[in-house]
Amino acid sequence: MSGLYRDTGVVLRTYKLRESDRIVVIHTAENGKVRAVAKGVRKTKSKFGARLEPMSHVRLLLYRGRDLDIVSQAEAVESLSPLLSNLDCASQGLAVVEAADQLSLERDPNPHLYRMLVGVLRTIAASPSPLNVAAFYWKLLANEGMRPELDRCVRCSMSDADAQFVAFDLQEGGVLCRNCRSGQAISPAAIVVLREILGGQLARALAQPESPTSHEVSALATKALEFHIERRLKAVAMFETH
Ligand SMILES: [Zn+2]
Repeated sequence: MSGLYRDTGVVLRTYKLRESDRIVVIHTAENGKVRAVAKGVRKTKSKFGARLEPMSHVRLLLYRGRDLDIVSQAEAVESLSPLLSNLDCASQGLAVVEAADQLSLERDPNPHLYRMLVGVLRTIAASPSPLNVAAFYWKLLANEGMRPELDRCVRCSMSDADAQFVAFDLQEGGVLCRNCRSGQAISPAAIVVLREILGGQLARALAQPESPTSHEVSALATKALEFHIERRLKAVAMFETH
């Protein structure tokens, strides 16, 4: 299928192609991940200007090619300028687009991921909470069907009314009681924050100041995302060799 099509997306990353062109990798609302050539984008008078930088939210007119599409027009949907001018915002923004890049599949529509991505970039631009990135990772995992169990011990099924959860096991996908513990230690405060993030109380979680708990939740989010991505890569490798 070739021809022109319109879509909206978030630029995940760009890389150099030839003297003045760039390849732009975009997670789009309707077409999943799209790789497209932006011609002349590296010239000082490029018609695309800064609109095709990572984290930009853009409305696009694309020409469908065999391998790579071509960006015909690009206009900004909105300005998320704090993402570029504030170092904290920029590093959070880059962390979320990198994670989205790892989970977005080429030409595989994932509109929920698109909406999550736009939502988190707006949140980051408005207020760089220390938990923005971690909350996005956990929600991303939940969206992939990897929602962690937080209310029952994953081994003996004891609820938190009867047992105190002291550990979190990535392999098992949730919390464990003292008797069953494996994986890594988790504090009761971190479990509370995780429940807020995944239980519809995101605003309350994001209002938390930086603390040992926010660090704990962030570190665990990064580990959980890496664990999931590695497992998915292995599954793909296995599928390809058999
Ligand atoms: Zn147990």
